[in-house]
Amino acid sequence: MIQNILILGGGFGGVRVALDLAKHLPRNAKITLINRAPYHSYTPDYHRIASAFLPEGRKPDPKKFLSLAYTVAIPLKMIFKKYRHVEIVVEEVTDIFFNENKVEVGSGRGFSYDWLVMALGSKSDYCGMQGIEGRVYAVKKVEEALNVRNAVDELFAHKAKHERIKLAIIGGGFLGCEMAGGLVDFAKKLSALHGRPRSSFEIIILEAGDRILAGVSSWASATAAERLKKLGVKIKTASVVTEMSDKEIIFKNGEHVSYDLAVWTAGVCANSIAANLPGVKLENKERLDTDKYLRLPTGQAGLSSHKNVFVIGDMAHFQGDGMERSLEMTAQAAIHEGRYVAYTLRRTMFGRRLFPYVPCVNKFLIDLGGRYAIFDSKYVKISGLVAWLMKRAVPFMYMSDILPWRAAFALWRRGIKIF
Ligand SMILES: Cc1cc2nc3c(=O)[nH]c(=O)nc-3n(C[C@H](O)[C@H](O)[C@H](O)COP(=O)(O)OP(=O)(O)OC[C@H]3O[C@@H](n4cnc5c(N)ncnc54)[C@H](O)[C@@H]3O)c2cc1C
Repeated sequence: MIQNILILGGGFGGVRVALDLAKHLPRNAKITLINRAPYHSYTPDYHRIASAFLPEGRKPDPKKFLSLAYTVAIPLKMIFKKYRHVEIVVEEVTDIFFNENKVEVGSGRGFSYDWLVMALGSKSDYCGMQGIEGRVYAVKKVEEALNVRNAVDELFAHKAKHERIKLAIIGGGFLGCEMAGGLVDFAKKLSALHGRPRSSFEIIILEAGDRILAGVSSWASATAAERLKKLGVKIKTASVVTEMSDKEIIFKNGEHVSYDLAVWTAGVCANSIAANLPGVKLENKERLDTDKYLRLPTGQAGLSSHKNVFVIGDMAHFQGDGMERSLEMTAQAAIHEGRYVAYTLRRTMFGRRLFPYVPCVNKFLIDLGGRYAIFDSKYVKISGLVAWLMKRAVPFMYMSDILPWRAAFALWRRGIKIF
């Protein structure tokens, strides 16, 4: 029987499932991947394009922006070139009808499935706070990262030279810290370009918790704080943002800081498709609860069985036995889950025994401006140039895992050249 597999989302999780299934299933299996964009985004390098210095000639060069975007946007066609039985559909998923085994997209087209994998990722979450959306720059999409870059560039070009430029980063997690490190380098170069004094800008991280990088070891958190302070970044912890005006960010305790440009890295929640599904159980950050095989638990959405629906990546909430909390929303977790689901799906199709999902142990590599990074794992902790070289090798390792070797090398080299 021909199996019809539908994968929603061409990010870290979706691409991994589709590739593993394409490699291991017979060619008559029908694999369809629906993604709203024709490319797969490499999010870990967004902070680099958001702080990329591109000295312009007399006329702005659109080609430079395109090259910049293509350091993190990997065309899906390139990834699946070898696998012609994988159909790529560039459309926005709008509705999922579990009872009919059907998915609808923006153009009104319907796709039926025997097996569904949901991997639609997450979106920025402003936690219902007043005046935030529209005043901050988010960094969830390639174009948003480019918008940050362009807005900072404009600010340095147009603000009066005697006035200080204040860049605020709301959220002291991985992205917030990486962004701060990148923006220091960028701001220094822009200051030199526009003849501004080196001390004419200020970068501040606003963190609600009592330390930055709450998800890593206390060694990594303290080392990162020390590094950022050395670069001149101010860190304000225990600062819960509640409101924003055009000029000020206001905290729960009544304090406030002024800003010229604010970047939001503080919160994400699952793609809104999850919250709109009838009868499903939503967990922390509106993620879909999953069973031990990463499937929607049976008995939800008024169905007797959801055994043909898998959820992975940022959309999925998985908390195995003995785990203190659910899995972090990371690319590593999404890839690992994608690999597992492709394997489990194949075993399910052939009626073989299933093994429950065992999550991977996360390792962290955090870029902190210049040629400096921090590597934090259970047994090995490194900071400085060696960690930075490891961080730069990761995109190549990832790209060579999803692309032919030559294409991966060309893409990686383009990034190296530009940055
Ligand atoms: C700026 C940034 C930096 C990060 N850095 C790191 C890092 O260094 N290391 C790390 O491990 N993790 C990092 N992460 C987290 C990581 O990107 C996510 O955890 C990971 O992408 C989740 O994978 P996913 O497959 O669930 O979703 P995604 O990779 O986000 O993929 C979801 C896909 O679905 C598509 N999509 C969404 N809605 C629709 C729709 N309605 N219809 C059709 N398509 C749709 C999207 O376009 C996207 O291609 C970072 C995230 C960001 C935003």
